[in-house]
Amino acid sequence: MKRCEIVISGAGIAGVATAYYLSVKYGQARVVLIDKLLPMSLTTSKSGENFRDYWPQHCMASFAGRSLDLMQELADQSGDAFDMRFFGYDFVSESANREVFPSDALRASPSGLRRNCDREAIRRQYPHLAETIRQVVHIERAGSIDVYALGSLLLSRARDAGVELVCGTVDSIDQDSSGFALHLSTAGGEARVTANRLVLAAGPFVDELAGMLGIELPVESFLQRKIVIPDPDRIIPRDMPFTVFADPQTFDWSDEETELIDDDPDYQWLLDEFPGGLHVKPESNDQIKLGWAYNRASEPPKWDPRDDISFPSIVLRGASRFIPALDRYVKDRIPTPVVQYSGYYTRTRENWPLIGPLGLEGLYTVAALSGYGTMCACAAGELCADWMMGGSLPDFARNFHPDRYSDQAILAEIDGLESDGQL
Ligand SMILES: Cc1cc2nc3c(=O)[nH]c(=O)nc-3n(C[C@H](O)[C@H](O)[C@H](O)COP(=O)(O)OP(=O)(O)OC[C@H]3O[C@@H](n4cnc5c(N)ncnc54)[C@H](O)[C@@H]3O)c2cc1C
Repeated sequence: MKRCEIVISGAGIAGVATAYYLSVKYGQARVVLIDKLLPMSLTTSKSGENFRDYWPQHCMASFAGRSLDLMQELADQSGDAFDMRFFGYDFVSESANREVFPSDALRASPSGLRRNCDREAIRRQYPHLAETIRQVVHIERAGSIDVYALGSLLLSRARDAGVELVCGTVDSIDQDSSGFALHLSTAGGEARVTANRLVLAAGPFVDELAGMLGIELPVESFLQRKIVIPDPDRIIPRDMPFTVFADPQTFDWSDEETELIDDDPDYQWLLDEFPGGLHVKPESNDQIKLGWAYNRASEPPKWDPRDDISFPSIVLRGASRFIPALDRYVKDRIPTPVVQYSGYYTRTRENWPLIGPLGLEGLYTVAALSGYGTMCACAAGELCADWMMGGSLPDFARNFHPDRYSDQAILAEIDGLESDGQL
């Protein structure tokens, strides 16, 4: 049996960042981090690794902004150990008038945003974009990181500060007056870890763990994907920012295709409108990465979700709407190898995370990080540590408190949201 002060269940980027801020910011060395898998190998390894401070609500914009500040500090201290690069995001739309991404935060302070609706200028500056594009909004404070390198840096510093990593599956949890007892299956047999305080950081399985303590969390998981493929025809300029098609779209299927789809109830969703948010960016070695979080059907998470063979052609077909030359890859043959990453966006209905105390004495969570968990991990880990160690809390802390739905003012804000910011 192992006894410690704090046990964190889950060594994805959220659990690792929490261990880092507990041990390095607060000097809390008696922390055990438990994971069934290698650290950062579940959802974290599927991340597109992108970041932005462009969010619909102030709380999310401040949260992401804080995380970027923390990442910049870490990048400076570590000699850029995780390749933090600022190349911006371009949101593109076929309409010059529509707000490409409704954002109170940006209406209040639009610095860091460049909006271009000049048709000729768009043609000159972005020759790879479709002639139908009438608006490009460039976000300055955005780019990408190497998430595994960031997590490894945080984990090695946390271990240097005393944090211990245990490999095991949490099968059940008991709570009594002395704290929590976690029952594990490990390679060496059954084991037990006890602690005064427990942090649930189990990604898509966080509600399963909370359920072991009789708590239901307001989260659902949605399987989303991205692909990386070669770009042998060099269609995507190597210096193209992360480019997002802001408009929803329906596909222009041929009569023959429509008939086939109509005949198969499993594929009729292909005739529906797909949401905006499809994104493309250049990758190293003449590759490109494409993602589109269009799945709106939640499901119980699986440990090893299957790839979808139709995803590569759907995302390329959608992308050729705003980068027409990609149509070549749909019509001829998708360049191989096609590497697909499938993982869950585990999220709340308004798409704000759950960070803070959870109703039972000594129980906390850092979870529901949806499609933004790698860019916001540092601020999430810091906030969880601030709650646990009595540090001063940022303004956004109350919006992300797991019990926020019982606060009428926050509930009214949630009910009135225009956009959930999901990409
Ligand atoms: C396709 C895709 C693209 C994405 N792109 C981006 C992006 O560009 N930018 C961005 O910021 N975010 C992105 N995200 C989101 C980001 O990857 C997640 O929000 C983040 O990785 C969540 O981290 P986590 O630590 O909460 O969860 P996880 O990484 O899933 O970690 C949870 C850990 O808990 C462990 N665990 C669970 N149950 C148990 C148990 N019973 N016993 C022991 N261990 C357990 C698991 O093994 C796992 O290691 C993307 C996600 C997906 C799916």
